[in-house]
Amino acid sequence: MRRWALLVLLAGAFPSAGTAAEVRRGHLSVAYTDTRDRAELSAVFLAWQGAVRDLRAIGLSVPAAVRIEAASSAATFAARTGEPAGIAASTRGRVIHTQRLSALGARGLLSVTVRHEAFHTAQPAGLARWLAEGLARIFSGEARSDPPTPTGLEGVPDAVLSAQLLLRDPARLGAAYHEATRRARVLLAKRGWRVVLGR
Ligand SMILES: [Zn+2]
Repeated sequence: MRRWALLVLLAGAFPSAGTAAEVRRGHLSVAYTDTRDRAELSAVFLAWQGAVRDLRAIGLSVPAAVRIEAASSAATFAARTGEPAGIAASTRGRVIHTQRLSALGARGLLSVTVRHEAFHTAQPAGLARWLAEGLARIFSGEARSDPPTPTGLEGVPDAVLSAQLLLRDPARLGAAYHEATRRARVLLAKRGWRVVLGR
């Protein structure tokens, strides 16, 4: 999951045409209902291929069959996932639920969202929540734009940080993601991807 701060675009989302389409390439299938999403498919598959290659380089592999289900609107996404509308995507096992692809694309978030969720499909079982989110944000490239300022959560125990990420309180979620990423970055600098991932 990742935070998606800007929701303005979604407020103007058109209603879905209601007809689901599905496209499969290799081990990934993408289902969508809004016809505007068709134009984003090649970017989705390209980002996925890049993620699969980069995951392999750090000892991880995605499951044999993964499905992306793109919602037609923020409301549909929230109803499907139970997540706040401000989340870009949510992965459960081999299924990645996302916001409307064209809305993610318009915000420049499509590629990083696909990479972030690809990491979640491939991450080792039992990875602490804070570490999974921090690593996913570093792997996706989202962390590059994190502010270098203190997060204010430096003294919070790891377990409490994980709990804050699960609580999804919009007022505190951004800082929690940044702090998880800061800690993950420290670990990676010391030990490297393969040791941190137990590979
Ligand atoms: Zn995540």
